Amino acid sequence: MTTRTTTRLAILGCTGSIGTQTLDVVRNLNTLRPGSVEVVGLATGSRETEMLAQARAHGVSLTAVAVEGDDAVSSGTTVLRSTDAAERLVRRLVDEDGVDLFVGAIVGIAGLPATLAAVEAGVDVALANKETLVAAGELVTAACARTGARLLPIDSEHSALWQALQGLPPEDGVDEPRPGPPLRSPPSRVARLILTASGGPFRALDAAALARVTPGQALDHPTWSMGAKVTLDCASLMNKGLELMEACWLFGVPEDRVDILVHPGSTVHSLVEFDDRSVMAQLGPTDMRLPIQYAITWPDRPPLDVPPLDLAALGELRFERHDQERFPAPGLCRRAMRMGGGAGAVLNAANEVAVARFLADDNTSGSVLAFTRIPEIVGEMLEAEPATPIGSLGAVLDLDRRVRERTRRLLPG
Ligand code: NAD
Ligand code: MG
Repeated sequence: MTTRTTTRLAILGCTGSIGTQTLDVVRNLNTLRPGSVEVVGLATGSRETEMLAQARAHGVSLTAVAVEGDDAVSSGTTVLRSTDAAERLVRRLVDEDGVDLFVGAIVGIAGLPATLAAVEAGVDVALANKETLVAAGELVTAACARTGARLLPIDSEHSALWQALQGLPPEDGVDEPRPGPPLRSPPSRVARLILTASGGPFRALDAAALARVTPGQALDHPTWSMGAKVTLDCASLMNKGLELMEACWLFGVPEDRVDILVHPGSTVHSLVEFDDRSVMAQLGPTDMRLPIQYAITWPDRPPLDVPPLDLAALGELRFERHDQERFPAPGLCRRAMRMGGGAGAVLNAANEVAVARFLADDNTSGSVLAFTRIPEIVGEMLEAEPATPIGSLGAVLDLDRRVRERTRRLLPG
């Protein structure tokens, strides 16, 4: 992806689950080949002390934290402080021509301005932050098309699809084999993308029991260890819906060519069905360092110190459909994708507010916002907001703010 022998990498969302695992991957790569990755920037939401410890450990001189305050320099490390500090860090690295790849690991729409700034400057982004594409897929992919920046998926399902798509013949009218995920150009000979879902911890609960689950139960994911918001989204299957939208934007396919299949073991990370009915799947251990490293090193696959998959011990792979009545979130995401315009931003904002409220409630005696109200609220907001076209970052952020306000009014007092 770069002709330099060193990849200069900046991590947006460095203190989170993906951010810290990215630093593990960097350590692995530099052990295998010293100096192959240089961390040139770190951005966090809060937890400045933790970020500064990372900066010291990796020799990073430019950092950013999303709290209001004065910029400062301490022991050779610059700290940018403001709510838009991550975006400022991106612009500064780009202006100095000091970065080859950003890792987009901020959670929520907070990641959008920095990601958009990176791709508008023509710099590739290894993207975990799916909400950016859900809320502003059209804007972000249009910027990529304009500048040639690529989005390299970190989300395990999209990494699996990307890996399963390698080796296709070039698109009609394109001379060279494509180097990465085909952005906004439907892959030739692809019939369907099939996203697998663990099904979350509540797969077997009936509707009444589902309404009573607590934040503590929802945060106990069966197969992956992740940040709170994405874990909660997994439990409601909203995450799979958001991933469906992410797949549409990354691979340029309409929503009716993306299928969802519950696969409780999370061994098959996703599949591609081709026109000849052949199906390619990517399997692997449930360890996010694998897709993170692939996004940094593709098409190379350096060794990674994780236990190999033991298929004989697994014995079998199970797949089933999800119950759309108990788990309406993926259907809402399909609807938002068909509506187009700002519908993705509306869905995302309503979900972020409802999820934050659910998680903020007492996690032992149950939430005052019922778990099943989360998709209902998202559906109500999709009904209430007209799907107007979205032409700029400012328009997305205005819509996001308005929907957050309206959603808060739907929450219990
Ligand atoms: P997390 O909550 O563990 O970490 C989020 C990070 O974003 C933190 O470092 C936080 O400080 C930072 N952040 C928040 N607001 C910020 C702001 N305004 N400016 C700068 N930094 C900010 O979340 P996570 O689990 O690492 O997930 C990150 C993203 O990756 C999410 O979009 C999630 O859906 C996606 N993802 C995560 C996983 C996983 O295994 N954790 C897997 C697939 C996709
Ligand atoms: Mg995923």
